[in-house]
Amino acid sequence: MDNCLFCKIIKGEIPANKVYENEHVLAFRDIDPKAPIHILVIPKKHIKSINELNSSDKFLAGELILASKKIAIDEGINLKGFRTIFNTNDDGGQTVYHIHMHIMGGRQMKWPPG
Ligand code: 5GP
Ligand code: ZN
Repeated sequence: MDNCLFCKIIKGEIPANKVYENEHVLAFRDIDPKAPIHILVIPKKHIKSINELNSSDKFLAGELILASKKIAIDEGINLKGFRTIFNTNDDGGQTVYHIHMHIMGGRQMKWPPG
């Protein structure tokens, strides 16, 4: 998608602090971290949000979660714990319309989120 910020990061048109990449997904540090560790995992395929996911994206959805497992180990937060979040549309707090999973850790998370 031409006008998508995260597609531009995938294409290398905008720099990002990458932490993990494979054929299907890319992970990079959030530019405005809300926790000591705050990483975004995105599919290389442009999908706007969970609302636009369909059954043919099952493998890709699994890749996002498995990437979070690997990243949590690499970041040393897997045992203490971490949070994974997909924000969807306005009420969910989504601001970038290329589906992404937040990985947040390095501090105690509160529940429920605001
Ligand atoms: P959302 O609010 O859509 O769930 O999350 C979007 C996230 O993208 C926010 O946490 C925001 O800080 C992050 N973000 C926005 N622009 C950029 C950018 O240019 N680079 C990086 N690394 N993160 C960004
Ligand atoms: Zn995109």
